[in-house]
Amino acid sequence: MPRRRLSERQVERIQRIQDRRRSKVEARAEVALAQLDDEAARNGLVVVRHGANLIVEDAEGACHHCVTRQHIGHPVCGDQVIWQPCGPTAGVITAIHPRTTLLSRPSASGQDKPLAANIGLLIIVVAPEPSPTGFLIDQYLIAAERIGVPALILCNKMDLLDDSERKGFLDRFAHYAKIGYPLLPLSLKHDPHLAPLRERFNGRAGILVGQSGVGKSSLIKTLLPDQEVQIGAISDATGLGRHTTSAATSYRLDSGGRLIDSPGVRSFRLGPITRAELEQGFPEFRPFIGRCRFSNCQHQQEPDCAILAANAQGAIATDRLLAFQQLAKTIRRSAE
Ligand code: GDP
Ligand code: ZN
Repeated sequence: MPRRRLSERQVERIQRIQDRRRSKVEARAEVALAQLDDEAARNGLVVVRHGANLIVEDAEGACHHCVTRQHIGHPVCGDQVIWQPCGPTAGVITAIHPRTTLLSRPSASGQDKPLAANIGLLIIVVAPEPSPTGFLIDQYLIAAERIGVPALILCNKMDLLDDSERKGFLDRFAHYAKIGYPLLPLSLKHDPHLAPLRERFNGRAGILVGQSGVGKSSLIKTLLPDQEVQIGAISDATGLGRHTTSAATSYRLDSGGRLIDSPGVRSFRLGPITRAELEQGFPEFRPFIGRCRFSNCQHQQEPDCAILAANAQGAIATDRLLAFQQLAKTIRRSAE
């Protein structure tokens, strides 16, 4: 179906209808709650949100269709919540536990839209084919620093390279490992169990990001041989059918931890940032920030620039300096 642009009035109308629907559901939640007793409160994990409908997984792994109590905010995929059962497979969410991290992305309206909470590992997938371009890794790393999530760089499709090419490819990225972003060379083709990747989750919730064609969907399929079963359990609980899976969903990994996935998460991109945020996005710059001769130093070619000096002494990799300078230019251009 061709996409139609909606007029402002239409958008407003749709928003009003959705707000009305949401408050109806929330009002239902209040009524249901009045009949519950507090002792029944349980902890759970939001595995997917679909409008006002949420699926909460309990400690035994069973899925419950929940609505949210009014005024507690909007839980998203990955949220740890308190919920009260009402009926064998339904419940009401009464509180959201504090989030450790929140991944958002700018929506069409320019407002940040939360995608997933409590992500503990960002897996940036690269491959020799298609070759990484446009400082994409650095942009993902800036996003990881902003959210406060540890990141690793998964170099997939190593089977495409002979020994010396492989060394060359990994050498190109060796400077990332030195500043705290480990490299994980892998070949899905040669290592169909992905044990080295599974180990990295270490009980955390991870997401895979990276440009198209690097192997993300193949890796996810391998990590989640029971994805269809998990989707089935979610669909059974919502009664909404299978389309719910286009929303960010938290899947259980049989090897421990969770994988959060959706098309939106996989194609996640760094949104607009300020210059100060850009600087903070390069952790190895931190010891040198504020030490340049000029307080507004752009770290391009100014005299007595502490960042350029650190680069000359080998404390900051040239590729990272170039990435910073290029991204700073983009920020300056969009500010003009
Ligand atoms: P996505 O766009 O990142 O989701 O990438 P896909 O998972 O669709 O993979 C793109 C192509 O790369 C597919 O043809 C995969 O079969 C292939 N591919 C994935 N992993 C490997 C690998 O380790 N080695 C090789 N040679 N090909 C791979
Ligand atoms: Zn400087």
